[in-house]
Order: sequence, then C-alpha cells, then structure tokens
Amino acid sequence: MGKCNPLTRIIPASFAWVLLLAATGIFFAFPCRYLMSVYTIGIPILQSIITFFVIMNFALATFVNPGVIPKATPDEVKGDGVASPTYQDIEIHGVKVRLKWCVTCQFYRPPRCVHCGVCDNCIETFDHHCPWVNNCIGRRNYRYFFMFLLWLSIHMISILSLCIFYMKDHLDEMKQLQTIMTLVIIGIIVILFIPILGLTAYHIMLIMQGRTTNEQVTGKFIDVKSPYTRGYCKNVLYSLCNSPLPRNICLKSRHTKNFYYSALNYGIQ
Ligand SMILES: [Zn+2]
Ligand SMILES: [Zn+2]
Repeated sequence: MGKCNPLTRIIPASFAWVLLLAATGIFFAFPCRYLMSVYTIGIPILQSIITFFVIMNFALATFVNPGVIPKATPDEVKGDGVASPTYQDIEIHGVKVRLKWCVTCQFYRPPRCVHCGVCDNCIETFDHHCPWVNNCIGRRNYRYFFMFLLWLSIHMISILSLCIFYMKDHLDEMKQLQTIMTLVIIGIIVILFIPILGLTAYHIMLIMQGRTTNEQVTGKFIDVKSPYTRGYCKNVLYSLCNSPLPRNICLKSRHTKNFYYSALNYGIQ
C-alpha cells in the first residue's frame, strides 16, 4: 500500500456522505411526507432519531483518532545505541506473538498494532483502513464504526419497509414524482442491502470472537485460539465499552527492546 494523495482519499468518503444525506433527504421530502399526513407523525420522529444516530456515529468514526501511536522522536531514536532485531517474540496466554519493529515509526509495535500504509501511522488494535470514512478503524473508533453499521442497517430496513408501504398505496400513480423518488430510494437500498447487512453481521461475528478484521483476513490464530479472546460476553463489552484513553501513547521506552506497552491489557505478566 502506498501513501495516497489526500484529495483522492476524500472521494469515497464524500460519495458516502452525499449518498447517505441525499437518499435520506429524498425519503423525508417525498414518501415520508405522505405517510405522516395519512398515518402518524411518529414516522418522521422515529426516522429522525435513527438518522441522528447514523450520522453521529459516521462522524465519530471519521474524526476520532483511531489510536495512532506517535512515531519516535529523533532524540528517542538517538538514545537507543543497540542495533534492534527486526522482531521479538512474547507469549500472551500461552500463544507466541511476534512484535515487529516498525522501521518508519522506530519502535516495536505492541500486540495487535499494525502500520497503516495509507495513513502512514502505527494504529493500536488495527482493524482495517476504511476508505468510506477516510480513517483507520482501530481501538479508539471501532465502536463508532460498528455502531454506524448497526444503525445504518436499521435505517435501511426501516426506510425500505416504509417505502414499500408507500408503494402499496400508489401502485396506480407510477408516473408521479413522489412515486418515482420512492422507487429511486428503494433501488439504492436494494443495491446496498446485502453488502451493508453482510458487513454488519461479519463484524458482529468478529466482536463475539474477539478478533479484528486484520487478524481474520491474514489468518492469524487460525490453528490456535486467539490469545485476545475473553469469552463472548466480555469480548462484546471490551470492543464496545472499553476505555478509549489514553488518546496518545507517549512512552519514552517505546523504541527500546523492552517495549511492553499495555502489557496488562493483553495479559502479559
Ligand atoms: Zn509504524
Ligand atoms: Zn489508515
């Protein structure tokens, strides 16, 4: 992965924002207006609440620091007189884990940390780099990314059901603007339905198993139990409720061979 032009990087994210806001706006402007006047005002109220959660989590996933570990400063690099091996092995819950030396950042990456080629930073508990939010998904923003997917799935199911409900009353008015717009929304949701709901289900499985996307796709711990799993319930709690602090890890010793950041977090004694 090479470093990307920042301008190119915002294209998929901008597209995602435009699509989300435009499709939601069309829903409120057309079928929702009809449903509200004929049925209940509860429909736009409930849909507005769902929309709020979708947008809030989308924004948080995009703008929250995913867990960047600052690169070693020139002073820190100079202080380490010993030539470093490219990796060191440690044991976590009986499983051998290899800590790699990051040539760019000049420290041993803590367990589950990966250097993102797009952001050019080491990210704590790296899940993946998401072009749709133009950010890495890591320890600090994974919960927002997941909650975004979950609320988006609810948003899509809800709007699709309401649009189908609208169509039931308008089967003989196919040429009206309201009906055409409703069909456009149905089309967009149908195209995205399986990818979005499939991704949400995939992340539910990952959260329960205590794995990251990166560990899953690179086949880490395929033969052995993941040393990071805590059991289904605790895995869910850890992924969605653990402390997002500290914001920046700035350990003086991060570039040395004894870099055991978050040792207790990973059960290393
Ligand atoms: Zn790095
Ligand atoms: Zn990244």
